[in-house]
Amino acid sequence: MRLLPTRHRWLPPFVLLSLALALWINFTPFTRLTQPRAAMRVERLPATSAFYSGQKIMILSPHPDDETLCCAGMIQQAHAAGADVYVTWLTSGDGFEFDAALEGRQLRPGSAAFRKLALRRMQEARAAAAVLNIPVSHLNFLGYPDGGLFRLFLENYATAYTSPTSGLNRVSYDGTFNPGSAYTGLNLERDMASVVDAVNPDLLLVPAPQDAHLDHRTASYLAQRLMAERGQTARLRFWVVHGGLEWPLPKGLHRGDPLTLPSRAMNLAWTRDDLTPAQILKKGAAISAYRTQMTVLGRFMVAFERKNELLSTTALPPGPLGEGVQPIIGDGR
Ligand SMILES: [Zn+2]
Repeated sequence: MRLLPTRHRWLPPFVLLSLALALWINFTPFTRLTQPRAAMRVERLPATSAFYSGQKIMILSPHPDDETLCCAGMIQQAHAAGADVYVTWLTSGDGFEFDAALEGRQLRPGSAAFRKLALRRMQEARAAAAVLNIPVSHLNFLGYPDGGLFRLFLENYATAYTSPTSGLNRVSYDGTFNPGSAYTGLNLERDMASVVDAVNPDLLLVPAPQDAHLDHRTASYLAQRLMAERGQTARLRFWVVHGGLEWPLPKGLHRGDPLTLPSRAMNLAWTRDDLTPAQILKKGAAISAYRTQMTVLGRFMVAFERKNELLSTTALPPGPLGEGVQPIIGDGR
């Protein structure tokens, strides 16, 4: 047998590794084999507290689609119990280059394509909310820049940020909560406070600070500060959409599988919310309303159509240090 030339010896292991990775990401039996205890761990979780009549629940969603991916089942259950559900989108999704390229049919989309994408995604968000029977009057679009929230939080707290994708430096889209408001962290916080105070929700469902997406993490920090100022941190609940290591695995549609714990936030105080088959199907219908996202991220989106959703009652794992928080060593003070 002839061996490959030395310079090509890397090829077989590379092909094998790629194949194994593709199987792990996409093939249920292989995923189960590599995560034998993942499903069991979900089964042992306590149930999410039941929703009740008159309860007010608000979801803070960094982008159009997060509220559906994390919580479409819980939204249906809250409605069935007689609760009211509100959704506040912090951005309009005007920073997603692949989406804008497809929408605008151009390889390098200009700012006009990103602005057009924002209006389209807001429309899709309204359609998804309609599938889930959330009244239009319960929806708020704050219209801050997709991909820019962390900069608003740190560098542009008081001075306006200009989005490199949309070219905008202030809230500009029709149908937004406070049009004309400059892109600053201060204004974002004020608008968040206004919508939260107008509703005074019993539960505020926000991203967990372990979420991999910087916009999500920023939303979490701001929401926690806002509720701490009101002495209402007990009303916060946390979810994850970008959970690390290709989560949720396997990709694609697996309605009979549980949504397992995200690797980035394994040790939070998770509760499990079980969905009925009808609720899973309706969640799927709401996800499908996000046509632009489905075109680019379809297998990721439908991977959230699972037997359960997950909600944590805490932002950090129990113990003196939070997950991912490193102790300060060598400073005796
Ligand atoms: Zn998002």
